[in-house]
Amino acid sequence: MPQITFDDLELGEIAIELDDQEPQDVIRWGLETFGDRVAIVTSFQIDGMAVLDMAYRIRPNVRVITVDTGRLPQETYAFIEEVRERYPEARFETFFPDAAEVERYVNAFGFNGFYKSVELRLLCCHIRKVQPLLRALADVDAWFTGLRRDQWASRAAIRKVELDHDHNAIVKINPLADWTEEEVWEYVRANNVPYNPLYDQGYTSIGCAPCTRPIQPGEDNRAGRWWWETNAPKECGIHCPIETGGFEHEVHAIL
Ligand code: SF4
Repeated sequence: MPQITFDDLELGEIAIELDDQEPQDVIRWGLETFGDRVAIVTSFQIDGMAVLDMAYRIRPNVRVITVDTGRLPQETYAFIEEVRERYPEARFETFFPDAAEVERYVNAFGFNGFYKSVELRLLCCHIRKVQPLLRALADVDAWFTGLRRDQWASRAAIRKVELDHDHNAIVKINPLADWTEEEVWEYVRANNVPYNPLYDQGYTSIGCAPCTRPIQPGEDNRAGRWWWETNAPKECGIHCPIETGGFEHEVHAIL
């Protein structure tokens, strides 16, 4: 259970104070308030890299948590190595899916079962992303994200700090909440922050290799994620609880 806690009222007042502050001020508040009990959680996309760079300048030994789904693009694995060298004092922690769960899924539905239905896609995300993240968040009182309000409709109302009732009411800190994508790129370029080379190939949101592709001109930035799905959320369940009707329990029962 969390060690440093806030209730809705306390955090609501802090959220009002921080909402018009710069990302670095919000990050400094998080680092000073939670110490070793806060971590950046990132898949090393452009927004997470901006947060990591800002945090590193304030506290180099910041914790950096990532989930390796086992299906990331080779370019992302190579990029993560580059990041580890660029920020040598940061403490990187990688969480993996439960091997037995992955085995059961693959044996029942195949290596690419996620293409067969939205339910099987969400189940794969649940096993490979959501569950490892739950283990990671069990050991922190707060987490930094790279979420922005303009990324997707489900993120339009996020605050810079909010109580994360999906994860033990720990504090979720979104320092870039009111930034645009252009502002993030401006920061990255001005500060020579490394970025995943897939962005130069037309990717605008980078996840697992089989579920991500570059976008076409005029498409939404997250259109390249799970592009074959229609009427499904462009979310994996990490940041936005997805109403599944409990399918994961039903599918688990037959696995
Ligand atoms: Fe599985 Fe695709 Fe989700 Fe990755 S993005 S966890 S491969 S469904």
